[in-house]
Parts: sequence; structure tokens; C-alpha cells
Amino acid sequence: MMVIVDYDGKKVSGDREPSSELPMHVEIYRNRPDVNAVVHAHPPLATGFAVAGIPLTRAVLAEVVTTLGSIPIAEYGTPSTAELPAAVRKYIKAHDGLLLANHGAVTCCRSVMTAYYKMETIEHFAKISLVARLLGREHLISREEVERLQGLRGMYGIAAPAPLCADGSSDGAIDQVLCQVLEAPESSTERLVPDVSATLQRASRDGEIRLTYGELTALITDAVKNLRD
Ligand SMILES: [Zn+2]
Repeated sequence: MMVIVDYDGKKVSGDREPSSELPMHVEIYRNRPDVNAVVHAHPPLATGFAVAGIPLTRAVLAEVVTTLGSIPIAEYGTPSTAELPAAVRKYIKAHDGLLLANHGAVTCCRSVMTAYYKMETIEHFAKISLVARLLGREHLISREEVERLQGLRGMYGIAAPAPLCADGSSDGAIDQVLCQVLEAPESSTERLVPDVSATLQRASRDGEIRLTYGELTALITDAVKNLRD
């Protein structure tokens, strides 16, 4: 069912008609001369995040930081209209993978297999993120580690046409391109899994005091005694 089209989307050969999302694919090729393949799909977990309006922008998995960086959500556009290519255009220069609001996901890369693997990575990431959020906590990889992982991209032969925004201060470098921030803790000393004493210190800074049952009983007894006196 292969259909061959030119860069304007005009059919060159094939028995069938090209996908109704052809304008989005052509838009990506126009904006990313480095890519030779675009994969568009509706994987259920990643699409669930796209429907909930929750981007996959938290630095939690080293593999994702290295291969994709943050995965933002392109605003909703009616399928097969010019709205969708316009929404995708805003992000595609800085990202190899996007969620499409209330629709699905799209990835691009140098070869069709790597674009396909990036789509698989997005769905896998969505699945793990969902489980972590159901369990009630997500420990982010430190900023320092995120920077180290970004450095490894070159070593693994992963081209980085998509600059990975580790913080808001790098806007200038990514001229006119929307690059969604990859969430990582500010502090370079912050541990991957914060220790309990640090959590307790933070809690007491927020004005919360933790007492054992014995301490609470002693405090009340003391207060009642003071009242009587
Ligand atoms: Zn679609």
C-alpha cells in the first residue's frame, strides 16, 4: 500500500491515496532537513497523556533524556487540516518526539527504524510515568546528571538537532523555537532519591511539626498542668 509523493504532497505513484495527515508529515520534512522519516501513531498510553494535557517533560529516565529529551504537547488541531501542521511546526525544530493534543504522537529521525524506536520509547515512557504517578511519587534525575546525559548523546551517535532545554535560561540559543523545559531539580547536589532527613527538614521548614504519640501526650499533659497552675 506504499504511496510515493513529492515534497509538495503531490502523488507520484501508488494505487491508494496518501494518509490524510500528509500535510503534517510534509511540514516536518520541510522544517527538519536532517530527518528522512516521520512516524505518526496513536499509542494508547502516550495518547492518554496527550488527552489529559500532561506533557512528558520530567527527567526521570536516562534513556529518554539521551534519546528524546522532553516531549511536549503540540496544541490541538483538527486532523487533516492546516491546524495540525501549524501546531507541530512550533515544536519540531527542537524536539524529535511530540504528543499531539487529543490525538496521538509523532516522531522523526534520520531513518525509519530510529523514528519507530522513538515512538516505542515514548509509549514505554508514558507507561512508566503512569505507574510512578499512580504510586504517588516521581523522583527526578538531578540537573547535573541531565547535563551529563546530554553530553552522552554524541557518544552514542545520537545527533542532537533538538537542543535539550535543561533550564529556561537557554532560550537565546534556540532562536524562535519553542523548547519545553525538561524538569530537573535546580540543585546539583540533590540526590536522585532524597533521603528521609532532608524530607523531614523540608517539612519542618513548611511549618509542619511531627510528634510521636508519647510526645503529643506529654505536651497535652504539660499544657493542662500549666492551665491548672
Ligand atoms: Zn492521527
